[in-house]
Amino acid sequence: TALAQKTKEMIARRQRLLGPAYELFYQDPLHLVKGDGVWLYDADGKRYLDAYNNVPSVGHCHPLVVEALYRQASMLNTHTRYLHENILNLAEKLLSTMPTNIGHVMFTCTGSEANDLALRVANEYTGGTGVIVTAYSYHGMTMATAALSASMRQNMPINTHARVIPAPMHCKDNSSQVGRIFADNIRKSIGDMRLHGIKPSALLVDTFFTSDGGFYDPAGFLQEATDVIHDAGGLLIADEVQPGYGRSGEFMWGFQRHGVKPDIVTLGKPMGDGHPLAAVAADSQILQQFGANTSYFNTFGGNPVSAAVGLAVLEVIEKENLIENARCSGLAIFQGMEALAKQFMAFGDVRGAGLSIGVDIVGEDNLPDPEYALHLVNRLRSKGVLIGVIGPHANILKIRPPLVFKPEHAQLLLDALEQELRNGR
Ligand code: PMP
Repeated sequence: TALAQKTKEMIARRQRLLGPAYELFYQDPLHLVKGDGVWLYDADGKRYLDAYNNVPSVGHCHPLVVEALYRQASMLNTHTRYLHENILNLAEKLLSTMPTNIGHVMFTCTGSEANDLALRVANEYTGGTGVIVTAYSYHGMTMATAALSASMRQNMPINTHARVIPAPMHCKDNSSQVGRIFADNIRKSIGDMRLHGIKPSALLVDTFFTSDGGFYDPAGFLQEATDVIHDAGGLLIADEVQPGYGRSGEFMWGFQRHGVKPDIVTLGKPMGDGHPLAAVAADSQILQQFGANTSYFNTFGGNPVSAAVGLAVLEVIEKENLIENARCSGLAIFQGMEALAKQFMAFGDVRGAGLSIGVDIVGEDNLPDPEYALHLVNRLRSKGVLIGVIGPHANILKIRPPLVFKPEHAQLLLDALEQELRNGR
């Protein structure tokens, strides 16, 4: 077809023009030209249900977000060295969702920059350099964050002052021990840092452990870990790029699920519904030292247009009751997946919180089956449903749709999966 020809040409152009580190999804890569809510459309007009993208948090091209962007872009766009109300309104609204110890916010354009800044702040405040991360975490692509992103390092070295610990893996029979095991690993890391003359700076975790494969339960397991890092003089940095913005279907922030108070919170992806907007929110005392020693300017971070977009996103989440929607639709997906797991051997453990759901795909030996996981993802794509894979073995189905995903969309996703599972390998 004409589309297939065009796709081939575009792939060739990409290879000619873009650096080789970029990746494309799917055996048959998608050429999307339009988005609307939970739907994406390819150049042929074929429609796809988006059960994968968390960045368009309130739905692709939400009219109120587009209007806020257009209105402010038509009026003025500058930077944070001039006064503007948008950034103040956004900061106020964001801080009103945070625990009381989090008193100030700084804006960036990407989650990577937010984590990078959080690490600078933590090192400055603690005088330490030792950071603890989980085994298959992802925290960004700057020099500092890539060196702490065990999932991406491949042939790149990890930061020599970092310590990498196993993710807090949970299964049905170790519930009561997840928090203890995780905290013990942090204790060991701190001991090892001390042995090597490294002062602890921070425990940096995605509070859903998304890249590690999604570990959510039991709620509260981060409490002991938080105490351990604090006792060692380090900070808790909650990377909310994935779990934040109501994804849990219960709370605005993932750390709230564990009842802990982070010292620094980093935000990104869903914050701008696709517009590059991210932030660091932190304990005011902790930011004091950083502010005394350096000034901070991020050319695009927190500009009036981005701030208008950020405000519109928060307003839509409230107005459309999207946290509650994430709870209902998330539950529908979760229960549907559990039902499929009873019928089909290939479905192993099902984990999730709200609209963040992972399903282990396993072979007959119960071992990870990345090939079949990828097969399912490709087959669903041809059926018009978009999901992904994740985890150290790339065998975990990753379901993470926009927050406007409704229970009827959940049914479409489940039906497509069931059909494909019935077809067999
Ligand atoms: N932290 C986490 C947990 C992420 O998932 C990501 C992006 N996948 C980042 C940080 C980096 O964000 P960005 O791509 O906006 O730099």
